[in-house]
Amino acid sequence: MIKIFNRLYTKNADSFYALLREKLKKEEKTFIVTANPEIFMISQKCEDVRELLLDENTTIVADGIGVIKGAKKVGIEVDGRICGVDISAKLFEFGSEMNKSVFLLGAKQEVLDALGKVLEEKYPGLEVAGSVNGYVPDKDAVFEEIKAKKPDIILVALGVPAQERLIYKHLGDFDKGIFVGIGGSFDVLSGTKERAPKFFINHNLEWLYRLLKEPSRIKRFYNNNIKFLFSVKKK
Ligand code: UDP
Repeated sequence: MIKIFNRLYTKNADSFYALLREKLKKEEKTFIVTANPEIFMISQKCEDVRELLLDENTTIVADGIGVIKGAKKVGIEVDGRICGVDISAKLFEFGSEMNKSVFLLGAKQEVLDALGKVLEEKYPGLEVAGSVNGYVPDKDAVFEEIKAKKPDIILVALGVPAQERLIYKHLGDFDKGIFVGIGGSFDVLSGTKERAPKFFINHNLEWLYRLLKEPSRIKRFYNNNIKFLFSVKKK
């Protein structure tokens, strides 16, 4: 796991967004993984996930206080969380400013419909090159459509690690594009699902809010977060 911790982006969110803006402007192909403890745990068992995280062209940001705490245990200081919802919102903003295009893959159809309206209203300069819900059986076929359309931003919301696997599988066929696996971000940005109140976010308690709202997540939380922190060995 230490090798993956070593690949984490450690500066703060603002400097990351500045970098992202440049990459979008220069059309520099980029794959961003918003890492939570779950993907670290999965990487222990799945060689392919470990490989995509260790690829020197992959950018990994810490999406969650668990990852920041884990990194600290091995002596790496990460200057704050950078999460999928915020990255997506920034990409919409920059994309609208620069008249770029975005392809949305994932989440339920009604979420995508609602998100489409938000984008039209709030980000008029951004072109939606296409959007396909995350419940179509053949996601590789969707990627063939994406390859043909060559959008500037490709957001994939299928959950960890399906979204990362899918992006990584097709990444080699692209010359440009900012690719991000963004989990449940469309649900939040479309207004379908509420994000935690500011208090929870500012106190690094967003995980607690999610557990209170969706108690069925408790087992998944224990398996990924608690076990994760115990499995990170102090240096
Ligand atoms: N999802 C999807 N297809 C699937 C399974 C999930 O499009 O087959 C979507 C789901 O609708 C949600 C997102 O993937 O928008 C994952 O959300 P979750 O909050 O579980 O992801 P996390 O950020 O916790 O990985």
